[in-house]
Amino acid sequence: MKIVEYSRSLQWVGNLQCPSCAQLTPGWRSSGMSECFPHFFCSDCSNVIHREADKKLLYEAAATPKLLAQIAATLPECPCGGRFTPGAGPKCGHCHQEIPLVANAVAYLHNPNMVLLDGAVRISDHLPPYQVRIID
Ligand SMILES: [Zn+2]
Ligand SMILES: [Zn+2]
Repeated sequence: MKIVEYSRSLQWVGNLQCPSCAQLTPGWRSSGMSECFPHFFCSDCSNVIHREADKKLLYEAAATPKLLAQIAATLPECPCGGRFTPGAGPKCGHCHQEIPLVANAVAYLHNPNMVLLDGAVRISDHLPPYQVRIID
């Protein structure tokens, strides 16, 4: 799989703090201009899916629980064996606990700030998958 490296010095690279173990996991966050919405994390790992087909649905209809359920029904399994799921967050790189980024899964449909933690794979319907590495 293709690997994309981001330097820690980049503006869009930072750390998420785990609420369980308080350690930091580095990651890349897409800008508000990226239009990386809607995106969904895996139930079991930090992989993220972002599909243009879902974005098209969001342009045509309001973000409602019904639309969320409609999209969720078509979300595939993750290569890790988990499933892309509304409300899931990325996982701590140290203790693997979920880092809760998604407070409200319906409101989150319009969140363009996609977080790709170190080691996460980005899955899409318009690009080959790639894995993110944060480097010094
Ligand atoms: Zn996964
Ligand atoms: Zn942790």
